[in-house]
Amino acid sequence: MTEPVITLQRFFARAREGRLTGVRCGKCGALAIPPKELCPACYERAWEPVPLAGEGTIASYTVIRVAPRAYTADVPYAVAVVKLKEGVSLLGRIVEIPLDKLAVGLPVRFRPLVKGDQTAVGFGPA
Ligand SMILES: [Zn+2]
Repeated sequence: MTEPVITLQRFFARAREGRLTGVRCGKCGALAIPPKELCPACYERAWEPVPLAGEGTIASYTVIRVAPRAYTADVPYAVAVVKLKEGVSLLGRIVEIPLDKLAVGLPVRFRPLVKGDQTAVGFGPA
């Protein structure tokens, strides 16, 4: 078994530094983010890391009003599926955008959400 080119751990370590990294399948060219074990398109394991610009638009979003316990202080907040300009979609939390300004198609930019040693994917104004 070979080591994956980019593990989830490394994905989040890079995200913490503000760099978004996807993986491209060396076999069929499919792009995936966050990194997966096997290519969902051809089931090969031939990933190459690809730096992504972190720019995209909101494809869909949901406003969370009842949150898991760790996030109750944060409600209401929005999570969105963002379609990155490279063509892949990624789920992240919306920050620094008023909820009533959210719209499908709104341009956003990746920003890491760092809380202690935890890093999550966030998107803020482009
Ligand atoms: Zn593939």
